[in-house]
Amino acid sequence: MTYSINKSNKDNSNSVATDEQLLTKFERAVCALKTLSAGNRTLLHASDEQELLYDMCQVIVKKGGYRFAAVAYAEHDKDKSIRWMETIGIDKAFMETLNYSWSDTEMDRSAVATAIRTNQPCVGRRILTDSLYEAPAYIPLRENAIKSGYAAVTAFPLHASGEVLGALVMGATEPDAFDDEEVSLLSELADDLAYGVANLRMRIQHQAAEATIARLAYYDPLTELPNRTFMLERLQDAIHTAKQQHHALALLHLNIVRLRGINQVLGYRSGDQLLQQLTQRLKHTLKESDFLARVGESEFALFLHTEEADYAIRVAQRLAKVLHDSVEVAGLMIDPRVSIGIALYPEHANEADTLLRRANAATNDVCLARGGYALYKGGREQECARRLSLIGDLRQAIKQNELLLYCQPKVDIASQRVCGAEALVRWQHPVHGMLSTMEFIKLAEYAGLITPLTHWMLDAVFRQSHAWYKEGLERPLAVNLSVHDLYDPLLVDRIQDLFSTWSISPELIQFELTESVLMEEPSVALDALTKLKKLGIRLFIDDFGTGYSSLSYLQKLPVDSIKIDQSFVMPMATNNNSAVIVRSTIELAHNLGLEVVAEGVDNQAVWDLLATMGGEVAQGYLVSMPIPAEQFNNWEDEWIRMSG
Ligand code: C2E
Ligand code: MG
Ligand code: MG
Repeated sequence: MTYSINKSNKDNSNSVATDEQLLTKFERAVCALKTLSAGNRTLLHASDEQELLYDMCQVIVKKGGYRFAAVAYAEHDKDKSIRWMETIGIDKAFMETLNYSWSDTEMDRSAVATAIRTNQPCVGRRILTDSLYEAPAYIPLRENAIKSGYAAVTAFPLHASGEVLGALVMGATEPDAFDDEEVSLLSELADDLAYGVANLRMRIQHQAAEATIARLAYYDPLTELPNRTFMLERLQDAIHTAKQQHHALALLHLNIVRLRGINQVLGYRSGDQLLQQLTQRLKHTLKESDFLARVGESEFALFLHTEEADYAIRVAQRLAKVLHDSVEVAGLMIDPRVSIGIALYPEHANEADTLLRRANAATNDVCLARGGYALYKGGREQECARRLSLIGDLRQAIKQNELLLYCQPKVDIASQRVCGAEALVRWQHPVHGMLSTMEFIKLAEYAGLITPLTHWMLDAVFRQSHAWYKEGLERPLAVNLSVHDLYDPLLVDRIQDLFSTWSISPELIQFELTESVLMEEPSVALDALTKLKKLGIRLFIDDFGTGYSSLSYLQKLPVDSIKIDQSFVMPMATNNNSAVIVRSTIELAHNLGLEVVAEGVDNQAVWDLLATMGGEVAQGYLVSMPIPAEQFNNWEDEWIRMSG
């Protein structure tokens, strides 16, 4: 035990004590013991660190009869400063002005600083009379002792987990206070206090860890929304209450259709940004009491207490509107495409997870329904299972090169000469036979398989074009691109590589993009088309007339031709409205310097009308159905023979 610096300060324990001295010594030991036991009780009840320090100082002053008690913590800053945490019986503000530090300098010989530095109790006695305290370093201490009415002081280090947290310091009015026995008892008190502080800190750490674990188990860290586990628990409770109170519930399932594509093409960080922005929009729209959760990678769910489906539909309409506006992600304006499915309790399911599954299944019908939402319809589950198994089969078919390249001729109307062909993919399923191209293209888009499908198609088309070229045939082939292809930053490089691999000139490969695709993401489309155009490729707007594009927008696009959609062409010989639309489209295109291809030319009357209207190219069953690429030469020989 380190006592203060001067021998004269030391307890005179070897000299014969008087009765009075013995009595005082005994009384002091009793005081220290009382303090110790009251301190222990305080420890048992402590729940807050600051409160514990306060209570302990109170015990020392009130129960122990000491003049003052204080706790100071050692800061590990560059000045090794001392922070006064609690003081009773001395002025905290005054102690702070002393700017004590626990560094080992002449001016830092206070009991507190010494106890912290040496990790030993430090006793100072007869402060008011001992000549030791006349040294400059002790002047503030003596002044404080006079001011606060104490004549002896002891500081005890507070050590926990091998570290000195600070010191417990106390003062007594008697100049000879704090003999060995008392110091030994009070040391225990300081140890108990340090243990109590460490224990409370550990408890806080445990509570924080438990809270983190609970958050991880029940919340989505990205959006900070409740996760699926939490949502299902709350939904099950809500169903339970709804059952008892005989009211209905609606569950809305929101699917961010574009998220997968954005993750794949722009990266997960962009996908995360999209989700966070959509979460903010939803939170602003919904009431605090609405339970919104993130239930899957690209899925949110919301449940509503409602009496009828109409209310759920109104909420879905409101959300669809709010989510419709584009979101800026990675410098691009992106339409997130949100589908909202609705399922109702008790109409569609009685269990939380079935209700969620059915609301999710309803999102598959959204493209059919207007307005971005759809109510669950029974009997869809089988259809969903079929779609799921087809997705797996399609992935396999692309990998194992089981797709087929079909070509449909395009003929120049004036000369009747074949001027190219459209490349169309076909899939002969081992069980279901030849599948509808429309169906599996949609499936590929939905399942994120369009990029590998387009890559397969590009390889097949370049190989075919090269084969024809070697036979002396310069027959342009047009490939259809999907909206997801426009997001593929590697597409243009890939096409460029294929041109150099197969030594094919740019006039022999063309691309078709449907008008609706171009309208969905105008800036992305313009960017991709400009890059393709730079390669010298001819570009077509497909299914023209179905996408509401404006004249001014068309003028900005680097395209060469428009293909009038077959829904206008097919009936034009019998329906005057269609004929008017086709005629004005041809005029419009010609005014813009664009060539016109008519799709769906399936009878002679249509062909003749197109010829009088000045349409340049015809494609349709009148000329030929799409045929396997290897049959094209035979077909063309026959065509020349028939038309020649
Ligand atoms: P599209 O690009 O507008 O292709 C024309 C579609 O019209 C083809 O259907 C073709 O068989 C059909 N068609 C052509 N002439 C006639 C006709 O006189 N009467 C009728 N009733 N139909 C005719 P298909 O091959 O089933 O393709 C459907 C759509 O699937 C295509 O429409 C295109 O958007 C898409 N598609 C086809 N192949 C690919 C591909 O390789 N990649 C991508 N991304 N989409 C493709
Ligand atoms: Mg096409
Ligand atoms: Mg078309």
